[in-house]
Amino acid sequence: MFSLARQFLNLVLPAKCPICHLDLSTEKGEPPPFCGLCSQNMIKILGPCCPTCGRPLPSGELLDAGPGFRCGDCRLGHTHLDGARAFFYFAGPTRDAIHLFKYHGFWRLGRGLAALAIGNQIKEWPYDASLILPVPLDSFRLRKRGFNQAVVLGRSFSEVKGIPMALDLIVRTKRVPPQVGLRGKERLKNIRGCFKVTHPEKIEGQKVLLSDDVVTTGATANECARILKKSGADRVYLFALAGTFQSPAGIGLGKDSL
Ligand SMILES: [Zn+2]
Ligand SMILES: [Zn+2]
Repeated sequence: MFSLARQFLNLVLPAKCPICHLDLSTEKGEPPPFCGLCSQNMIKILGPCCPTCGRPLPSGELLDAGPGFRCGDCRLGHTHLDGARAFFYFAGPTRDAIHLFKYHGFWRLGRGLAALAIGNQIKEWPYDASLILPVPLDSFRLRKRGFNQAVVLGRSFSEVKGIPMALDLIVRTKRVPPQVGLRGKERLKNIRGCFKVTHPEKIEGQKVLLSDDVVTTGATANECARILKKSGADRVYLFALAGTFQSPAGIGLGKDSL
């Protein structure tokens, strides 16, 4: 409902950056989803990352130890993901944009963020996926929100990379309390047993790329990966728009407000 109202308002109001409210109507053609300054201030996750969870690492030398390297967090628990990447730190205008997209129906922001992330980093994307699966929302949240933000991002990736996306192969079977405020192991426990693969024969042998908006501890994606591998998935990777990581230089922020 609110997204219909939003679409109507988008038509009648002058174009403004939804994040900082800068006037965009002077730009030629269709206004961009957000202004250039906000775009510049979205901090990209560059440099070496943990190959399993996408967490930025202080030094690439850690990876020289071998392909089996895992960060401290990943070594603590059993990980089913074969790789993960987040494009931005969940901070500043990126955090504002994701909140507007996710909770207030600013679709163009979601598409714009995905385009920016994919345009910037797609060349570096190391994974050879055969199928994109958005991390599913439970039906209550889907009804309340009206859309699954992970689908919007998955579709952008699918269009650019030409990898098919499927919507119904992994579903949530039950609601769980929000993960906000829970720590790594509690998140894993909270989410365990919440997903089901509907057609295991379509998962068998696939290299699955999960899409999601924000990765925090990776517990949700890890549980999806566990179930997908039980159904015969060959590999499971995750790409997320943003990660709630602390950067090695202290940029970024803590695990808040999801
Ligand atoms: Zn702006
Ligand atoms: Zn890790």
